[in-house]
Amino acid sequence: VETMESPQEPGADSGEGFNAAALVAGLRTYFRSGTTAERGWRRQQLGQLRKMLSDNEDRFLQALQRDLHKPPQEGFMTEVSATCGDIDHALKHLKKWTRPRRASTPVVAQPGKSYVLPEPLGVVLIIGAWNYPLQLLLSPLVAAIAAGNCAVLKPSELAPATSRLVAELLPRYLDRDAFAIVEGAVPETTALLEQRWDHILYTGGGRVGKIVMAAAARQLTPVTLELGGKSPCIVAEDADIEVAARRIAWGKFTNAGQTCIAPDYLLCTRATAERLVPAIERATRAMFGDRPRESKDYGRIVNSRHAQRIADYIGDGEVVFGGETDVDNRYIAPTLLREVGLETAVMQEEIFGPLLPVIELDDFSRVEQFVNDREKPLALYVFTQNDATANRILARCSSGNACVNDCMMFMAAHELPFGGVGPSGMGAYHGEHGFRTFSHYKAVMKRSYLFDLDLRYAPFSARKFKL
Ligand code: NAD
Repeated sequence: VETMESPQEPGADSGEGFNAAALVAGLRTYFRSGTTAERGWRRQQLGQLRKMLSDNEDRFLQALQRDLHKPPQEGFMTEVSATCGDIDHALKHLKKWTRPRRASTPVVAQPGKSYVLPEPLGVVLIIGAWNYPLQLLLSPLVAAIAAGNCAVLKPSELAPATSRLVAELLPRYLDRDAFAIVEGAVPETTALLEQRWDHILYTGGGRVGKIVMAAAARQLTPVTLELGGKSPCIVAEDADIEVAARRIAWGKFTNAGQTCIAPDYLLCTRATAERLVPAIERATRAMFGDRPRESKDYGRIVNSRHAQRIADYIGDGEVVFGGETDVDNRYIAPTLLREVGLETAVMQEEIFGPLLPVIELDDFSRVEQFVNDREKPLALYVFTQNDATANRILARCSSGNACVNDCMMFMAAHELPFGGVGPSGMGAYHGEHGFRTFSHYKAVMKRSYLFDLDLRYAPFSARKFKL
């Protein structure tokens, strides 16, 4: 296990020898007691989760700073406050989400009533990623609680300070009979995946996503996979270049590019690149100064292995600005690359770091084909002032999520589902979509004893049916 801190004390449920089967059995017994299905309990647990975040806000921000050099303001905005927003939204809508939904009843089933009854799935597993180690662990938990489930959380071992802190605090605030946290890496995750779950929500790369799905298949467990990919950022000639440049620089260099929905590469014409590239450089300097390394607002790569991986991509193009690296200190400068070959690693793999290759096309009308020749991405960005251009690209290019004239902001809309398509993932969460992910929508019909026509009962006769 790669850690940046000295080895940590194992928590109650972490380290070797934890009994995954006993853990799940205990939670399942509690689930069967019916406590977690009560709306009052769900409310109370959501309130406690919110209290955990507000009581310990400074400690969470410090942990995020230790793991990723996350500036406190950025940590607050993208992790703590984002999760609190999820909780508030769930509390506000819980009654509506949990209510049975009426459906029409056909004549043959009259008199009767039909409705859809959301019910909790049971005991679910949530496996988090390291880049937003708090939000990507707790936001799915908000949905699991709202839907009335028990849950086991597996935070990423690559963000050890955050993992440790959540493991310390969660049992102090939440119902210990319903929730558990297992810290650890591959052995612990493997032991968890051998158990039978009612749902697994995994966030991370596609390679492990396949391991998770294969393990789930053995138990017929449904999965939500929140994966990644190369999210294109298309800029048309009519875009407002200054605003676009600032929003793109923000989308790319926040968290030093380690965001699953960060724009991976730029796609525009040569003429647009001539104006856009200097504008992105100006926007980047305005945010992090001439020496981003000294900026308190610029993050670090999660570990030196990933820093080396990203540093190796730099040679795949011509550096327009940035390009400095210090792998031992996990620093990669915000960097823009031009003249990048399409067969190079930086254009074949998800970058997941602060490098932005610019792909220049002769003809803007080729952007859709360029995108469609590649795997379906998690996000797609289009900057244009022409609605028809935006709509044409949205209609022709498939992606998990999309944003016109900005990056990543769809994350702030509670009513939008968040999820990938194809290799960028399956299923979605956020707001009611998360509630739905962790619920079974049970179809119920209630009949009355009034009338019991014998039409459907054997023996059949010509009197009953005219064929
Ligand atoms: P990863 O896939 O290596 O790890 C994710 C989790 O899987 C960790 O908790 C880890 O302990 C566990 N794990 C690792 N190897 C395992 C194994 N062999 N067996 C069982 N479990 C194992 O994470 P990563 O690839 O470094 O994360 C980056 C990727 O995640 C990027 O592709 C990024 O786009 C994606 N991501 C997606 C989202 C999203 O919401 N869609 C969010 C963040 C990151």
